[in-house]
Amino acid sequence: MPNFEAFASQYPEIPPSVMLKVDLLRRGVRLGMGPVGTRHYHHHDEKGQKKIDARSHLQGSVVLPDGTTVFVAHNPNSPYLIQFDAERSALKLREGEPGDLICDLTPGPRFAWAGERTARQTPMASVLTPSLGGACGPLATFLLRYCEFVGANEECRFCSWVRMGKSHELRPDVGDLRETLGRIWSEQRSIGYLAFSGGSLLNRTKEADAFLRYREAVQETGLPLPTTVAAIQALNKPDSRRLCGAGFDYVCYSMEVWDEVAWSAVLPGKSRSVGRAGWMRCLSDAVEVFGSGRVLCNFVAGVETAVPGLYPSPEAAADATLSGMRWCYERGIYPKYAVWIPSGGAAFADREPAPLNYYARLLRGRQELYSEFSMPIPGTDCPHCLTQSCEADLSRLAPARHGVGPATASGWEGRHAVAHAAN
Ligand code: SF4
Repeated sequence: MPNFEAFASQYPEIPPSVMLKVDLLRRGVRLGMGPVGTRHYHHHDEKGQKKIDARSHLQGSVVLPDGTTVFVAHNPNSPYLIQFDAERSALKLREGEPGDLICDLTPGPRFAWAGERTARQTPMASVLTPSLGGACGPLATFLLRYCEFVGANEECRFCSWVRMGKSHELRPDVGDLRETLGRIWSEQRSIGYLAFSGGSLLNRTKEADAFLRYREAVQETGLPLPTTVAAIQALNKPDSRRLCGAGFDYVCYSMEVWDEVAWSAVLPGKSRSVGRAGWMRCLSDAVEVFGSGRVLCNFVAGVETAVPGLYPSPEAAADATLSGMRWCYERGIYPKYAVWIPSGGAAFADREPAPLNYYARLLRGRQELYSEFSMPIPGTDCPHCLTQSCEADLSRLAPARHGVGPATASGWEGRHAVAHAAN
């Protein structure tokens, strides 16, 4: 479906640029030589990076003509091509061979600090990483550089991260962190959020220990911190209390998929370590610790359609995930989603992406939940950093239809400032 008109006629209730965003996410892009993306240290060290096509380590974003921001990473098999017209210094989005022009693009930010090193010669982008191409300059730190689920071949079926290279656990270095964070503040002047994330351990208390160690090290830099979130396996109440006490603003205990059968097919490691029922109990308990709206739960939207025979239609799969989002809201948990990207190296890398009909149903249904539940949008989210989901785009582009409810009506304004990029 190569043009805006085709999207508009098939999905009249969704702005065509939003359907294009979904299609770019689910099918990926071929990155040409244009100024898009920065090197991404999947494992936060140099030795761990597999020597494959250098473009496989690039991540960033592009902006469509109406301001919709889309995360991009290289997929050599994508029908979409981002081409750089050197003569006009312009970026073009094309589809197919030789390549019908779809639209012009604006590259997302590329920060100069991400190519620099600390005094100890550590790449700054391996200390703190630009997160998902957000234009407000969000950061992530991957503090557990391995995942124990891999040992028994039980990694989450959508996860390519664990196959991108081999690495090992490091202790945080306060000097590196101070230098890097200081350099980031001086260049960007805005940091949308700071997410702490990483692989999983079967001993979740030990996993929480690593998050506490890194949180303390970041604190020790003495530098101001943006909103922080710990994206970690669902923890029992005492460990949730420890994260809250350490100053994390939010925790994100992601269910990823909703139904029990989807859990065993997509999340074998999480099914063994905690199980779906245990995960849901931890989520509810965490609300008692952090408060309503401070506990997040992400869904990898669309991966459940890759489980053979699970749902009779894409719409039924979307409805199941929407049930999961409703369950979250009813318990004070803020539901998030990211469009499933079948990434190279993941166990489900060769599965077909979820159909567009799935997303048309899910996107509409998710916006409708905003009219039912007034829970505020979390401090981690803004129109500049939601590069893998469409809540802010829909509210902005079609407010009468998709921007209803107190959370969306004014909730997207005045959030993270756009970051300055010296590059
Ligand atoms: S828990 Fe799942 S998503 Fe996270 S690193 Fe391990 S396999 Fe990947």
